[in-house]
Amino acid sequence: MAIVGIDLGTTNSLAAVYKDGRAQLVPNQFGELLTPSVVSVGKDGRAVVGRIAQERLVTQPQDTVARFKRKMGTDAVYNLGGRRFTPEALSACVIGQLVADAQEFLGERVDEAVVSVPAYFDVAQRAATKRAGALAGVRVERLVNEPSAAALGRHFSNEGAVAAAAADGYPPDETFCVFDFGGGTLDVSVVDCFDNVVGISAVAGDNHLGGGDFDLLIAQEACRINGIGLNALEASQRETLLREAERAKRELTDRDSHAFLRSSIPALPQVLHLTNKRLFELAEPLFTRIDRPLKQAVYDSDVPAEEISRAVLVGGSSRMPVVRDYLERLLAVPVICEEDCDVAVALGLGTYVGIKQRARGVDSLVLTDICPHSLSTDVRNPHPPFEPLASVLIPRNTTLPASSSRVYANSQVGAREARVAVYQGENVYAKDNKQLAELMVPLPRNASEQEAFTVTFTYDINSILGVEVRVHSTGEVTRRVYNGSSWDEG
Ligand code: AMP
Repeated sequence: MAIVGIDLGTTNSLAAVYKDGRAQLVPNQFGELLTPSVVSVGKDGRAVVGRIAQERLVTQPQDTVARFKRKMGTDAVYNLGGRRFTPEALSACVIGQLVADAQEFLGERVDEAVVSVPAYFDVAQRAATKRAGALAGVRVERLVNEPSAAALGRHFSNEGAVAAAAADGYPPDETFCVFDFGGGTLDVSVVDCFDNVVGISAVAGDNHLGGGDFDLLIAQEACRINGIGLNALEASQRETLLREAERAKRELTDRDSHAFLRSSIPALPQVLHLTNKRLFELAEPLFTRIDRPLKQAVYDSDVPAEEISRAVLVGGSSRMPVVRDYLERLLAVPVICEEDCDVAVALGLGTYVGIKQRARGVDSLVLTDICPHSLSTDVRNPHPPFEPLASVLIPRNTTLPASSSRVYANSQVGAREARVAVYQGENVYAKDNKQLAELMVPLPRNASEQEAFTVTFTYDINSILGVEVRVHSTGEVTRRVYNGSSWDEG
């Protein structure tokens, strides 16, 4: 029974296993390590994944979809080749393909996957990711936050053992910052490593900021100099232009000076000349958005900024010189971006698979993680403006698994039911946070006064939420687990 680690990216996905005493990346059928996270459905109703699907983004845009990770945990539906797909069903297609590649690589059946998710994924997005695994026919017991996987991959060498890692020049004890900038998400984490424990002490991020935003800016600029709006183009032309923009962006990384976007679209005859300086100007609003999670993570970690030894850059977008320059100017520590920055998460997952399989050399390693959002319920506010307040049970950045209880009283004497709502977010007023769900709990029939009840929130190792309500007068207990859209019996 084998386990595979899956880095399910917005743009590309990778698989890793633990084999011959080390984490190894799994090549796909083309011998490539990166499989584009693109799904296309043919006339026969068959879904194809990866490079072939990516080519169809241009030839069959109506039956092909990319970047669906951004919609995980929502009600979005895609109609492809006459079939309806949810974002999790599309993710299941990608997982299924990577599992098949891993089976081929290992020569044995894979029935379990450890899947990485952005640290900032909320409960609904995490639950959707787990369901995607189940749809693909693999058990997903553990979701690992992408930056935590990257930290594991970076702190311990490929050989896995702490001693070997130390010998490779990584100090066994250190605090560093992981800046994980992918195609569609940014996560910043502060990582504390001591002895055999890699612990995440704070995370902050932006679920809607990534390399794709740079592509969009470049595409918009190409349209602007041609006096046309991006939305004036047909869907397939927009897709073509976005790919051309992405190519120009990469060219700018590789050549570090100039890039030219000569579009194949007739409506865009004017060539866009790009420099990193110009890209920096265009992307200024994006850089402002990068600042916030960086400062937040360092502040939340309670680690004095001078104790942070380095910033480790991972994710494809970290390769951009404008991003590296910006971080070097902003941070007072070495900014490290290794050649393989887009496979760091997958390598860390491979190491995690080794830990899970209790493989020699890595069996004593421990990865601790934290919850990324505060969880609260709403309580009455007796003061103006009388907006219900958020009463926090589990503050963000609490180490997982976590559990916390508080006693509340029903505000209406004689009410037959108590309402317990669950919110996620950091705002003082409940309404400003995201309401995840609400649970109605029966109260005794003849309650003559305010009923007291104890509410317990639990967050398991995967940040999956459980709620328990115990009514004091009857001792009756209601237990539920939130599956991302509704409650399951606990
Ligand atoms: P990831 O989700 O980590 O695979 O990152 C994918 C993102 O990284 C995409 O937006 C790519 O365009 C971007 N990317 C990959 N390689 C480069 C590069 N050499 N220069 C700039 N961006 C890159």
